[in-house]
Amino acid sequence: MKKILADRTAKIDASGIRKVFALGASLEDPVNFSIGQPDFDVPDELKEEAIRAIQAGQNSYSQTAGDAVLKRRITERVGNKYGWDDPSVLVVSGVSGGLLLAFMALVNPGDEVIIPDPYFVMYKHLVNLLGGKCVFVDSYPDFELPVDRIADAITDRTKLVILNSPSNPTGEVHSADQVKKMAEIAAEKDVIVLTDEIYEKFCYDGECPSIARYYEKSLVLNGFSKSHAMTGWRLGFVAAHPVLHAVIEEMTKIQQYTFVCAPTPFQQAALAALDYDVSDLVEAYRKKRDLLYDGLSDKFELVKPGGAFYAFVKAPGEAGATEFVERAIANNVLIIPGNVFSEKDTHFRISYATTDEKIRQGVEILSSLL
Ligand code: PMP
Repeated sequence: MKKILADRTAKIDASGIRKVFALGASLEDPVNFSIGQPDFDVPDELKEEAIRAIQAGQNSYSQTAGDAVLKRRITERVGNKYGWDDPSVLVVSGVSGGLLLAFMALVNPGDEVIIPDPYFVMYKHLVNLLGGKCVFVDSYPDFELPVDRIADAITDRTKLVILNSPSNPTGEVHSADQVKKMAEIAAEKDVIVLTDEIYEKFCYDGECPSIARYYEKSLVLNGFSKSHAMTGWRLGFVAAHPVLHAVIEEMTKIQQYTFVCAPTPFQQAALAALDYDVSDLVEAYRKKRDLLYDGLSDKFELVKPGGAFYAFVKAPGEAGATEFVERAIANNVLIIPGNVFSEKDTHFRISYATTDEKIRQGVEILSSLL
C-alpha cells in the first residue's frame, strides 16, 4: 500500500492520559483522578469580560504577538518578577502552543534536550516529532531537580534543559538552592533553560522560585489554563530576557504561519485575569492536597507534593504500575500509569483536581486494593 503518512507520525504515540480519560467515559460516576484540569469553572467576572469582548466586535485577528495592551501588561509583570529590563513577550495559544513554537525555533534534528524524568508528556513527543533527541535524567525517588546529574548529561549537542516547577506529574517544587545551582551550571555550559511555570499559582508551602530570576537565558512559559480554569480558551504567553529576543522573534514568525494569533476575545479576558485574585481557589487546592496526602501517606509511598494538583505515588507490589492502574480502573478509580510520564513504570499519577468527596472515595478505594 502506498505510504501516505509522513515518517514523523511514527515518532509519537496517542496520549496515554486521553486513553484513560476515554475509558472513564464508559464508567458510571467514576472517581476521576485522571485529567489535569481544575474542577472549578472560569470566574464569572472573566466570562463576562470574554462575552463583552465578543459583543464589542473584538473577533478578528489580533497582532501576531498578541493584543498590544495585554502584551504590555505581561511585559511589565515579567520584568518586575524576574528583574528584567524590557523583556520580549509573545502571547500564544496555550502553553502547548508556546512549547511547539519554542521547540520549532530551537531544536534541530539530532539536538539533545535534557528532560528531568518524570516529565510532562508533551515535551518528549514534541522533541521527537522535530527529530530532536530526548535525554532523560532520572529524578526518582524524591523528584527534586537532579542538578548534578543534569550537569553530567550536558554535551556539545545539548540545546535546552527543561524545567517544570511546580511539576506535572509529581507536584514537586524546585527549591531556591536547586534553581540557583542549575542557573550556575546552565551559565557555565551556556545552554538555554525552558521553564514551564504553568502551575506557578498552585504553590502551597511558601515560595516557588523561578530560575528566570537567576539566569538570563531562561525562556519562561506560563498561561491561564490552570490558574483560571480556562483550558478551553487556549491562552498562554512566552517571555524572555532581551538576550533571547531573537528566539521570541523567530517564534513569532512561526506563529504567523501556524496559529496566526491567540484567540482575540479571550486575550481580553486574560487581561482581566492578570488582576484576578485566585488565592481562595489555591487555598481550596492546598486543602485538597492535604486531604489526599493525609489519606494515602501511611499506606503508599509518596512524596508530599508542594504544588500543582498532582501526586505521583509508588504502585504497591512488584508487578509494575500498569497492573495496579488496571485494577484501580476496574474499581472505578481513574489514575494514570507512571510510564506515560516516565521511562519507568513504577508509579501512578493522581490528579486531585476534583471534589473533596471524590478524593475521600478515591483514597478509600485505592487503599482497599493493597
Ligand atoms: N505544561 C504543563 C506542565 C501542563 O501540565 C500543561 C497542561 N496539562 C501544559 C503545559 C499545557 O497547558 P495549556 O496548553 O492548556 O496552556
